[in-house]
Amino acid sequence: MPDDGNFDPVANLATVRARMSAAATAAGRHPRDVTLVAVSKTHGASKIESLIAAGQRVFGENRVQEAQGKYPALKAAHPDLELHLIGPLQTNKVRDAIALFDIIETVDRPKLAAELAKEMVRQNRRPACFVQVNTGEEAQKAGVAPRDADTFIRTCIREHGLPVVGVMCIPPFDEEPSLHFALLRKIAERNALAKLSMGMSADYEAAIRFGATHVRVGTALFGARNVR
Ligand SMILES: *Cc1c(COP(=O)(O)O)cnc(C)c1O
Repeated sequence: MPDDGNFDPVANLATVRARMSAAATAAGRHPRDVTLVAVSKTHGASKIESLIAAGQRVFGENRVQEAQGKYPALKAAHPDLELHLIGPLQTNKVRDAIALFDIIETVDRPKLAAELAKEMVRQNRRPACFVQVNTGEEAQKAGVAPRDADTFIRTCIREHGLPVVGVMCIPPFDEEPSLHFALLRKIAERNALAKLSMGMSADYEAAIRFGATHVRVGTALFGARNVR
């Protein structure tokens, strides 16, 4: 992959979109049923602006504070942007997250679910939620364990009234992702959730084959990140 300096996000966007379409079509799905979440963490507003100018509207950030530095101005200039939170959310950041993000992909514990519900009422804003599932059961990774997913999803919806629309996973770095994609899909199906956020730069086509409705792609669009 070329390094950051020579990376053209607009050309990359066309490539990623074409590959997404081909993967969807090959799987008997309609390309419009898969949404590209352009992951802009660590990248500056000018790169993001170039993708917006090329028609991209859905973006993802993994840190509330970093997103607060970039997105209020971008959203003011482009009111149709849709911003996804894809990183761990601390309860002391819930207020800021509800104010800024349109989708929260990382709901993973009862205390967070309760805080989100409370803050949605307070701000009269209801960002759609995904429950993050730690499909690889990795100690260092966020997400609810697969065996606890059904109960947790039910608690989020029935007890807290959260608008849960789907599930999200980040497979272990060194494992074949397809098993994780298949597991996530099963969890979505048995909980009657329509949305599946899975697949990143290295494996978004496989994820689409397994039913992803949202792929989260950073490096293949913006180039390598210097940090994280
Ligand atoms: C950074 C990140 C991505 C994008 O990863 P790439 O490999 O750069 O495409 C996707 N999902 C999450 C949760 C991330 O933090």
